Amino acid sequence: MSTTTGATARITHLLGHSSWEGEAARTSEVFNPATGEVTGRLDLADAGVVDQVVGHAAAAAREWAAVSLARRTRVLFAFRQLLEERTDEIAKVITAEHGKTYDDAKAEISRGREVVDFACGIPHLLKGGFSENVSTSIDAYSIQQPLGVVGVISPFNFPAMVPLWFVPIAVAAGNAVVIKPSEKDPTAVNLIADLWREAGLPDGVMNVVHGDKEAVDALLDHPQVKAISFVGSTPIARYVHERGVAAGKRVQALGGAKNHMLVLPDADLDLAADAAVSAGYGAAGERCMAISVVLATDTIADELVVKIAERTRTLRTGDGMTGTDMGPLVTRAHLDKVTGYVEEGVQAGAELVIDGREGADDLGPGFFLKPTLFDRVRPEMSIYTDEIFGPVLSVVRVGSYDEGLGLINDNPYGNGTTIFTNDGGAARRFQHEVEVGMVGINVPIPTPMSYYSFGGWKNSLFGDTHAHGVEGVHFFTRTKAVTQRWLDPSHGGLDLGFPQND
Ligand code: NAD
Repeated sequence: MSTTTGATARITHLLGHSSWEGEAARTSEVFNPATGEVTGRLDLADAGVVDQVVGHAAAAAREWAAVSLARRTRVLFAFRQLLEERTDEIAKVITAEHGKTYDDAKAEISRGREVVDFACGIPHLLKGGFSENVSTSIDAYSIQQPLGVVGVISPFNFPAMVPLWFVPIAVAAGNAVVIKPSEKDPTAVNLIADLWREAGLPDGVMNVVHGDKEAVDALLDHPQVKAISFVGSTPIARYVHERGVAAGKRVQALGGAKNHMLVLPDADLDLAADAAVSAGYGAAGERCMAISVVLATDTIADELVVKIAERTRTLRTGDGMTGTDMGPLVTRAHLDKVTGYVEEGVQAGAELVIDGREGADDLGPGFFLKPTLFDRVRPEMSIYTDEIFGPVLSVVRVGSYDEGLGLINDNPYGNGTTIFTNDGGAARRFQHEVEVGMVGINVPIPTPMSYYSFGGWKNSLFGDTHAHGVEGVHFFTRTKAVTQRWLDPSHGGLDLGFPQND
């Protein structure tokens, strides 16, 4: 085992198959958000540790790139099997460190496993093109090769799924990975790294460094790290993109979100209310695809708010292991930030339909806020402009489709959005006109399948390449075009002209 257990387990870096054995100069605490207790002490890497781990990965990368596709694929299938078998164990750790419900933790592992399914098809995905006889006796073809060592930096809110968006494809394509998980819930990645070892992945192909900004900066600056896949908040995504690109790396940096649901007058309001509550409060709103704004057209707004409120009042908040609908927020600091926004909304004059602060203290010493619903939110209020990342849903009343669309398109974020309507023409117009990367029509959370690519527009993604799907394979490979000629006595002789294909 790479992770010790106990009341306050030590959680440390993984140099391939081995736990790092040095003494950490800095550590941080890991909490169980449902109880507020410290459950782990995490080693925080400095530049020296990062250099050691990257060096280990670089040595492994050279050998792994030469391993046949058949052998690589066998490791992926074995990993997929182990991930399925150990889902419960990993989900319990996620609930204990993140706070989301046990069912939700299992669901995120399942969505991550779909990327492994996709990566199991890597031989097909790495096929290059071939053109015979582009000039007399000359053939041209392309091959896709791995980059070497790639870095993955992940956020707290999907401690298993986000790493699984990247690692299986990177590894399948022949790269070695150094991943830096969120310091708030780091253990799931160590458990997943153990599964890679059990699946037969050679030592050094999968490595973990734990840490904060210091470790991230060291990865961004390290000359042997060729690419960075980052997911997190927009300010850090922008920073990571700029610094990584300045260091000559390929960078995809997925950022924050403010996702709107537009409800037209002809929508099925029960369906829309179910969706708003599910997508607004699932995982306590700590999802990058959470709906945080409902744009309700004036004629149905009163009825829709009543339906959303009725459903919201039925939700049970509590420890995610006890069959509740919604768990706590991830840290005390985050809880304070979210409740600060609730107070700002009240002060700004929004109508607080349901105050999730009421009764939250009765749930125990954990970091709890119950679902909170605001109506008559206006676009200048901070509860509208900012990503709150908590169980706070804002209803903004709009006079028309055009007004709703304008708000979405003016928003600096462009991760996800959804429209509820029974008018196919309106839905079709919306998917064409809306400036957002992932669009739903009568579905609450339009998260693409693994064989499509995941990513937003505008301030929700810096870089050109989205996660997983074909774009993911492109990100973790570089293409080489080869032109070959085998000796033919009819050819030869000097020609200083530019090659032409006659
Ligand atoms: P975060 O930006 O605080 O942290 C993300 C990662 O960056 C972590 O590994 C963290 O250690 C590191 N980091 C934090 N501060 C840093 C700094 N100053 N310099 C360098 N590295 C730093 O994000 P979070 O709070 O862990 O996650 C929530 C955010 O992630 C939300 O904004 C959410 O919308 C976003 N998110 C986006 C997507 C997406 O697909 N677009 C998916 C999941 C989460």
